[in-house]
Amino acid sequence: MVITDLDLNEVEAFLLELGEPRYRARQLLDWVYKKGTDDFKAMSNLHVELQRNLEGRGWRVSPLTVAGTREARDGTKKYLFRLPDGLYVEAVYIPEEKRKTVCFSTQVGCAVGCLFCATGQQGFKRNLTAGEIVDQVRKIGQDRQTRISHVVAMGQGEPLANYDGTLKAIRLLNADYGLKMAARHITLSTSGIVPAIYRLAGEELQINLALSLHATDDQLRSRLIPLNRTYPLAEVMKACRDYADQTKRRVTLEYIMIEGLNDGEADLGRLVKLTKGWLCHVNLIPYNPVPTVPFRPSPPRVRQRFLRTLEAHKVAVSIRQERGAEVEAACGQLRQQLKL
Ligand code: SAH
Ligand code: SF4
Repeated sequence: MVITDLDLNEVEAFLLELGEPRYRARQLLDWVYKKGTDDFKAMSNLHVELQRNLEGRGWRVSPLTVAGTREARDGTKKYLFRLPDGLYVEAVYIPEEKRKTVCFSTQVGCAVGCLFCATGQQGFKRNLTAGEIVDQVRKIGQDRQTRISHVVAMGQGEPLANYDGTLKAIRLLNADYGLKMAARHITLSTSGIVPAIYRLAGEELQINLALSLHATDDQLRSRLIPLNRTYPLAEVMKACRDYADQTKRRVTLEYIMIEGLNDGEADLGRLVKLTKGWLCHVNLIPYNPVPTVPFRPSPPRVRQRFLRTLEAHKVAVSIRQERGAEVEAACGQLRQQLKL
């Protein structure tokens, strides 16, 4: 069993079974999340018998081992983690002056199979457990010896297709006994699983929702994101607007700009229509090249045109500064294996 897979109640329950008082659970989790220790023997306020007992039963704090890393000149660092069953998953550390962000994965591979995404090309292997998710953030904080201030579920996988694992991990990231991150600093990106968006809105978490929009008509969006055939644009947009209404949180609409595909005047006109007048924010993202995909990013002047036009319509909009592309650590570039 793995400690980071459990919430406070579950840790309390198994410690009670071992005859320990309830307060031991917080002591143990304090070592795990606040002090960043993986070793029961180092947990000096747990008595030696308990330390031995935990080890003897084959308990572990952490399910991940760092199998490789690669660091870009700007400090962006990609991590390859080995999972207990021998599969691998990647996460990315993105340092900025005021924030330290981790982009984490929620699945090994992804079943959605978007045309433009390296993870999507790889197929789906399995969901990550809550511990395998939260431990990416923990391990990177340990390695960088810093407090991670922000996280985004924008690594490998579709977080809402692993709803339970992802939500449990988010609660561990947010909990006072966990990594104690503000919910407002946690962002979940989805390709648009409509029933799960409604479910998420009902969780009463203050996390940010980002939708991978990428196209403004069903024909193109279905080509790029096959899931759009199940949940077409009108339904996805309605779910996002409801999310904004219900949570009062601004929904981010991510729009990858691909030359000659979704960056024309008609696309721009439809984008304005979809985004004007409600609590959303458009994030224009230069397409990151992926081998085997014949797309190219839109030129900077086209991006500027989208930016200015949306601004003129009073739509909140920004252009994402992609980091880490030189080490293939940018969005959509994560594959199962890090090439060192
Ligand atoms: N599965 C979720 C979250 C992981 S992908 C989702 O699709 O939203 C995170 C973001 O990277 C998504 O917005 C996705 O569309 C984007 N992305 C995928 N491939 C990309 C690429 N080659 N260039 C730029 N962004 C990409
Ligand atoms: Fe999956 Fe997101 Fe990649 Fe699409 S973009 S294949 S949903 S990880």
